Amino acid sequence: MAKEELECSFCGRKKPETNLLIAGLDAHICDRCIEQAHGIVIEESKQTDSSDLSAELKLRKPQQIKEFLDEYIIGQDMTKKVMSVAVYNHYKRLLQPPTNDDIEIQKSNIIMVGQTGTGKTLMAKTVARMLNVPLAIVDATVLTEAGYVGEDVESILTRLLQAADYSLEKAEKGIVFIDEIDKIARKSDNPSITRDVSGEGVQQALLKLLEGTVVNVPPKGGRKHPDQKFIEVNTENILFIAGGAFDGIDRVISKRLNMQAVGYSASMSDDVVDQNHLLQYIIPKDLKDFGLIPEIIGRLPVLTYMDPLDAKTLRAILTEPKNAIIKQYKKLFAMDKIEFTITDGALDFIVGKAIEYKLGARGLRSLCEEILTDAMFELPSSDEKKLNVTKMYAEGKLTKTTIKKLKAVS
Ligand code: ADP
Repeated sequence: MAKEELECSFCGRKKPETNLLIAGLDAHICDRCIEQAHGIVIEESKQTDSSDLSAELKLRKPQQIKEFLDEYIIGQDMTKKVMSVAVYNHYKRLLQPPTNDDIEIQKSNIIMVGQTGTGKTLMAKTVARMLNVPLAIVDATVLTEAGYVGEDVESILTRLLQAADYSLEKAEKGIVFIDEIDKIARKSDNPSITRDVSGEGVQQALLKLLEGTVVNVPPKGGRKHPDQKFIEVNTENILFIAGGAFDGIDRVISKRLNMQAVGYSASMSDDVVDQNHLLQYIIPKDLKDFGLIPEIIGRLPVLTYMDPLDAKTLRAILTEPKNAIIKQYKKLFAMDKIEFTITDGALDFIVGKAIEYKLGARGLRSLCEEILTDAMFELPSSDEKKLNVTKMYAEGKLTKTTIKKLKAVS
């Protein structure tokens, strides 16, 4: 064959019409077709990303999911167990091939009840990290009914899209963590809630998302750009995890338990109720009595609770999780070749202060920061290659003013 007669075996362009024609054994390909083929390869590999999830689930049964959670979260065994099963079932439902037996597996959206700082957000974050799915964290208090000042409920999905780098496919398998769900409870049923009007309306708007629906989502959020194109997001396979402190719910639980005790005195008097830890007896009805509408409760069928953090747990949080605060400081100092150690006495002191001033687990980090700031400022430019933080050192760094400051931000 004469040279100028060579052509691309894919598109048929003659050699002079191409920039480059590469020869194979008995075929040729031009530069344009190579580019097109490359595009297809990229698209295809994006598609197969979704099989990550099934590989992850094949790898991890509920017990292994819990083991993963154990690496990052101290205690909260009950919630970890419940969470592992719910997450496993949710994604199993999502990966199941269509069947015609009419058995539809329902979503296992989760609601966690527990004081702030007990690790609810951490739980959602850790699950998302394990499954490598996008996570949107939203605060229910900023949500309002459409038309009011604040954010529309759809903004939740805008956040999820952003977390998924605008990959619709990834967002539709993601996780949404709705914090402070208790703050949109109806006021009438709970005197401690001061804000309402939109409360029930927001709950109604949330219902559809939780259940599974197709929502038109403004990709950049907000209502200020009416001409932006909407993206249709299907929430069918999005896992919703709600969390809230539900301040005062122990009174609701206690009241119910007492009433039961009166009604069925024989059976109840055998069970000793742990009055200091009433959350463990929580049932969906308590959420209703608190002011969540029954439909919302129905769509968050997995109910679990977080234990309050005691000194032992706080102490463990400082040193044990995979990315424990103390481990992080060790790493930071090591980058400057400084060996950082901290005594048991100093750790107990920090925990003691966190409890004394009711700073919770979040306060641990701020306390450490206050204690270590001087050292982190001075040591990198000094010859000192060791820092041992003792109780005395820690006490010296924590003045009354710093504690006051910490209390104000916590
Ligand atoms: P919540 O969402 O319940 O208010 P967070 O998950 O935001 O609480 O927890 C606040 C911080 O406290 C987290 O960043 C985490 O480091 C720490 N923390 C809380 N509970 C635990 C726990 N059980 N195990 C490890 N760290 C925890």
